[in-house]
Amino acid sequence: MSPFLSRDLEISPIGAFIDPPQPRDRAIITHGHADHARAGHGAVLATPDTIAIMQTRYGADAAGTWDPLPFGERREVDGVTISLHPAGHILGSAQVLLEYRGQRIVVTGDYKRLADRTAQPFELVPCDLLVTEATFGLPVFQHPHPADEIARLLRSVAAYPQRAHVVGCYALGKAQRVISLLREGGYDAPIYLHGAMLRLCDLYVERGIPLGDLRPSLDVPKAGLAGQIVIAPPSAIKDRWSRRLPDPVLAVASGWMSVKQRARQSGVELPLVISDHADWNELRQTITETGANTIWVTHGREDALVYWSQQQGLAAEPLNIEAYEDGPEDDGGDGE
Ligand SMILES: [Zn+2]
Repeated sequence: MSPFLSRDLEISPIGAFIDPPQPRDRAIITHGHADHARAGHGAVLATPDTIAIMQTRYGADAAGTWDPLPFGERREVDGVTISLHPAGHILGSAQVLLEYRGQRIVVTGDYKRLADRTAQPFELVPCDLLVTEATFGLPVFQHPHPADEIARLLRSVAAYPQRAHVVGCYALGKAQRVISLLREGGYDAPIYLHGAMLRLCDLYVERGIPLGDLRPSLDVPKAGLAGQIVIAPPSAIKDRWSRRLPDPVLAVASGWMSVKQRARQSGVELPLVISDHADWNELRQTITETGANTIWVTHGREDALVYWSQQQGLAAEPLNIEAYEDGPEDDGGDGE
């Protein structure tokens, strides 16, 4: 096939880039994490949720024009038909389907297939060329069920009623998912939020994701947080901020918590393996089920997935996309 998508994810007939790290005249944005969505593009095409997230984080003037495209609607531009399909990663996260002269290309962006009440459920999109992420693209990564991880947290909360439990979570996506999982696990008490979490939690609630009783931790005297759960950015749990919590149990929710050495090094007492990315099994399952015969692998551990795809008789290669200055923001981050 002759792909109409270049290796830096420029759609050649229309000159639009997908998740470009540099400001571009036309950009299609898969989701609101800072390593995919940046300020300064001319025209941004994205789901309404992603546009709301970008406007909340960067301001309403962070792009020249905003072009919301709801899931499943088709937009034709110079012969290319663009549509967005749920990626299940965070609220509004999309895979991009491009159709041109009978060929179908899907760019997954970040995705996961496990059910998540805070994100529209992943949709399998058949295609000829699949551009897949590979954040957890090694056989060692097989994520446990998040309900089991939340149950461990709740057992610890019950066991230490005199201590606060502070859970380090990225402010966009992970925080809301952990809160939602706690509610699903039967935890009805107020959940306390570090100030950095407030705006995006409010946005999720405004956009129809129930999160229950949330309160700013700042409003509560130290003793009042004994036995409570506090959600904070990973960077806050070890700095001065956490000293205002009573004898805190330090937890972090991340796919990387499956790497025990990493949890130990970062001083995390209660590592919670909760990932918003596909694990090794899901990555392979998706490649197979899309029916794609060409696979481009990016954003993570490309080599193992390229090798596995080639073993299946598929044309597969790694795609080295120009890096963002800030590095990955969510589970993809090595800097946590
Ligand atoms: Zn992401």
